[in-house]
Amino acid sequence: TDETGTGTWQNARIEPYGPIQMDPAAAVLHYGQEIFEGLKAYRHADGSVWTFRPEANAARMNLSARRLALPELPEELFLESLRRLVSVDADWIPEGDGAALYLRPFMIATEAFLGVRPSREVSYRVIASPAGNYFGGELKPVSIWLSTKYARAGIGGTGEAKCGGNYAASLIAQMEGEAHGCKQVLFLDAANDNAVEELGGMNVFFVFKDGSLVTPALSGTILHGITRSSVIQLGRDRGLNVQERKITLDEWRDGVASGDITEVFACGTAAVITPVGELKSETETIGSADAVAGPVTLSIREQLLGVQTGAVEDTHGWLTRLA
Ligand code: PMP
Repeated sequence: TDETGTGTWQNARIEPYGPIQMDPAAAVLHYGQEIFEGLKAYRHADGSVWTFRPEANAARMNLSARRLALPELPEELFLESLRRLVSVDADWIPEGDGAALYLRPFMIATEAFLGVRPSREVSYRVIASPAGNYFGGELKPVSIWLSTKYARAGIGGTGEAKCGGNYAASLIAQMEGEAHGCKQVLFLDAANDNAVEELGGMNVFFVFKDGSLVTPALSGTILHGITRSSVIQLGRDRGLNVQERKITLDEWRDGVASGDITEVFACGTAAVITPVGELKSETETIGSADAVAGPVTLSIREQLLGVQTGAVEDTHGWLTRLA
């Protein structure tokens, strides 16, 4: 790295998919010094291939890099790595209802040493995998488990970085949720009066009867979701009163009971937008497993997915052509 923390990147190449060789003392294997990103490439009707807001992924990867003491990757190199991979993998892009090629850029610390310090050698790679609709088939409301025992992030921690350790910390809560029939886990923000934070892999939104669209404010522990920021923009476009603020479990419970909250949905690259049916915990259930997706959820989803797949005009310049 140079004095700005920017790496000199060498040896860029396409390799056939397969195992990678690493020294058993590579820092990533012991200290978890790694970061990653996730985005999707969609094939449009004319055969061209596009991705959604990749500059935002590049910026977020650099935010993660700074937090994990890894070198930053210039945006142009990030975009170039996606273009080069998609140029050889374009045939793997599935067609149809929301199907895409999922792209997974990641950076790992490869220097071999035992002792805790930043690695001086880093490997950046991108892999790809065909992806269908995240929760499979039709748009069913997802059941969420409320994690009361475990946090995925703490103040000053790595919550807003996209690093493996956050997900390692979330697995046990995820298992607990699955044992209770839930596909996602809701984490609370212990540093912020146990306010609603985010799901294991998605951000969360609330639609109020009065036309407000509310999502937890970025507090330092929440991932800066790119779908989240897009939903905020689309909400403003339609004249909703979008608020990034603290929302407590009490407000969620009372809002659903009184009818002030009319819809809850979760969003992320993988599933785009998914209605939330119920929130379950050891002691209570908020909402209902067989709730139907509400009109705001459905219409924002249709617009977002439409832009991504090329069916709806991209008025915000969110798309970048990859092939
Ligand atoms: N929160 C977490 C913890 C996530 O893993 C993800 C998926 N990247 C999100 C939110 C949603 O972010 P995005 O919209 O950028 O996919």
